[in-house]
Amino acid sequence: MATYLHFAPAVALAVALGPRRVGWRLMVAGALCGVMPDLDFVSVTMGFDRYSGTYGHRGFTHSLGFALLIGLLGALWPADGWRRRVGRGAFLALCTASHPLLDSLFDVGICSAWLWPLDGARHCLDWRPVPMQGVALFGEERFLLELQWIGVPLLVLANVGMLLRHLGARWTGWARRSTPRPVPVPAPLTTTAEAQGPRARRRQRVRYMNAVALAWMGRRAQRL
Ligand SMILES: [Zn+2]
Repeated sequence: MATYLHFAPAVALAVALGPRRVGWRLMVAGALCGVMPDLDFVSVTMGFDRYSGTYGHRGFTHSLGFALLIGLLGALWPADGWRRRVGRGAFLALCTASHPLLDSLFDVGICSAWLWPLDGARHCLDWRPVPMQGVALFGEERFLLELQWIGVPLLVLANVGMLLRHLGARWTGWARRSTPRPVPVPAPLTTTAEAQGPRARRRQRVRYMNAVALAWMGRRAQRL
């Protein structure tokens, strides 16, 4: 197991997607989902299954099926509109699935039952680059290795996501600004002003000329 950073994918994903899509409550829920699969230790400790059994360590809680189940439960929770529900479910499912993925990158430990409930057998990834053999479960050495192999890539991912989000927002704003807006056409002189005497007529004529000039400048500005 990764010891320190199972919560980190949820935080990185939340930063990349932005606070409008992932609020702090959802981020905390995602972080808990990232840690939760290791509660399977309870099942082993209480003797429900052996260490390498389907319900043992890295068994059903370390599977894609379990991640989908958590995502489904998250989507069932009441929210405003189906889009938010689907988004929340997908976020929680990804956070849960990040757990066995991180575990599988380490070159020690039992493999995960990725395909539960279709298949309870353990499957290892071909690529297990994080060198944890001989490293204590807790301590500075493990922390630094996790920082290097998990923390730094996630930091890069979060920043790239944030950058793309900002660029997307700027582009959308630019596209919106460059769409021509209708220029208001000045209203013609009213008969009320005619009835109010020469001063009122003069004042309204000046306002009318101003409005015509502004409308002309507005159209010109939009053509530039
Ligand atoms: Zn684990």
